[in-house]
Amino acid sequence: MITMTFESSLQTVNARMDAACQAVGRARHSVQLLAVSKTFSADAVAQIAALGQRDFGENYIQEGVEKITALAALGLTWHCIGPVQGNKTRLVAEHFDWVHSVDRLKIAQRLSDQRPAGLAPLNVCIQVNIDGGAGKAGVPPNEALALAQAVAGLPHLRLRGLMTIPEPAPDFAAALAVHQAAKALFDDLCASGLDLDTLSMGMSADLEAAIQAGSTLVRVGSAIFGSRT
Ligand SMILES: *Cc1c(COP(=O)(O)O)cnc(C)c1O
Repeated sequence: MITMTFESSLQTVNARMDAACQAVGRARHSVQLLAVSKTFSADAVAQIAALGQRDFGENYIQEGVEKITALAALGLTWHCIGPVQGNKTRLVAEHFDWVHSVDRLKIAQRLSDQRPAGLAPLNVCIQVNIDGGAGKAGVPPNEALALAQAVAGLPHLRLRGLMTIPEPAPDFAAALAVHQAAKALFDDLCASGLDLDTLSMGMSADLEAAIQAGSTLVRVGSAIFGSRT
């Protein structure tokens, strides 16, 4: 029964992504779906994985590591999308494939230093506080280039792009404007010579606006797994 529900919710999200790409003439493969599994069980992840979804995102590092360990045999790709404190960098470096939420050089240096030699470089996005919310995680937009350049020079990281978590927008136009600001910053960084391929933005509520603006990866939790209690 649960699998039936996940099947239809995953299909609905993929259909929304198809329609959003089609509406603006983007190739469907230019946008990737990250299933955000925070608070949901390893068993729920395994059910979604059985439907063909390969990339999963976790906010809470310890919780993520437990699922990564439990599901190691499935060969999934795991993305850390939550805040990374200095005392958690080793767990992230040893277990995850991606981290979207780097906003300080010190954390990036620790991740690079602690990435085990036998693993591929850790894929990294710089989190940008694109709408300037007070007290929010993310580097201010005008500091993104300098941080990105520094991260790009670290040996065991691979800088992939930017990530944003804007405040919920009142309507589509407002969501689009914020996502367009992130896309403009992303384009500026590319024009500065950085080799970036990932713009991580858009969630359950605003993935259409994010795709219209140029997102390459939408992070979707509740629209796949159901609401979090
Ligand atoms: C929880 C979370 C999501 C998914 O949010 P939904 O609204 O459930 O799709 C995406 N990104 C981050 C960083 C999150 O913490």
